[in-house]
Amino acid sequence: MLNLVLFGPPGAGKGTQSEKLISKYNLVHISTGDLFRAHVKGQTELGRRVSQILADGQLVPDSVTIAMLEEEVVKSPGANGFIFDGFPRTVPQAQALDNFLIDKGSKITVVIALDVDQAELNQRIAERHKISGRVDDAADKLQKRVDEYFSKTIHVLPYYDEQRKLTRINGKGEIEEIFKNLCAVIDKY
Ligand code: AMP
Repeated sequence: MLNLVLFGPPGAGKGTQSEKLISKYNLVHISTGDLFRAHVKGQTELGRRVSQILADGQLVPDSVTIAMLEEEVVKSPGANGFIFDGFPRTVPQAQALDNFLIDKGSKITVVIALDVDQAELNQRIAERHKISGRVDDAADKLQKRVDEYFSKTIHVLPYYDEQRKLTRINGKGEIEEIFKNLCAVIDKY
């Protein structure tokens, strides 16, 4: 079983690379951002609770996020493995994921962080905003998401580094080149 955490700030390319990785490695892709957006769109009870939080670019409380993630994992009992995209985003989420996987006799295999500088991120999200129309890609909301990343999410990196699970790769450049570098890391496992 291969459980990969794909890590990086908003606009790092996690979604794009996840799409390519799931078909190559036959993994189940879990994007907590996509799940929340589906709940908002479907106007579920959870969607109503989180819609303003998403629109403001803030993080959804850990308890809510962890419960949704765990519910999603158990839907695929026979999976080859998972790509966690956009989760964990806080140290308590990372700890909860570790404990949850241990209970299932499993663990995180590797965490790959996509490194992209801020100027490039801003440019990519401005482009994406034109196409996706995501409200939280608008400049002021994006700033909030970047702030959340640097105040809370960045601390997840040393958490996995201490477990010797973290690999950082350059997330700037051609999509295919980045994909090749990602595969080179994954193929070691
Ligand atoms: P994303 O598509 O990963 O950028 O996520 C979009 C939004 O969903 C974030 O700005 C948060 O509001 C929410 N979200 C996604 N994943 C998480 C998470 N792991 N913890 C808290 N909030 C999250």
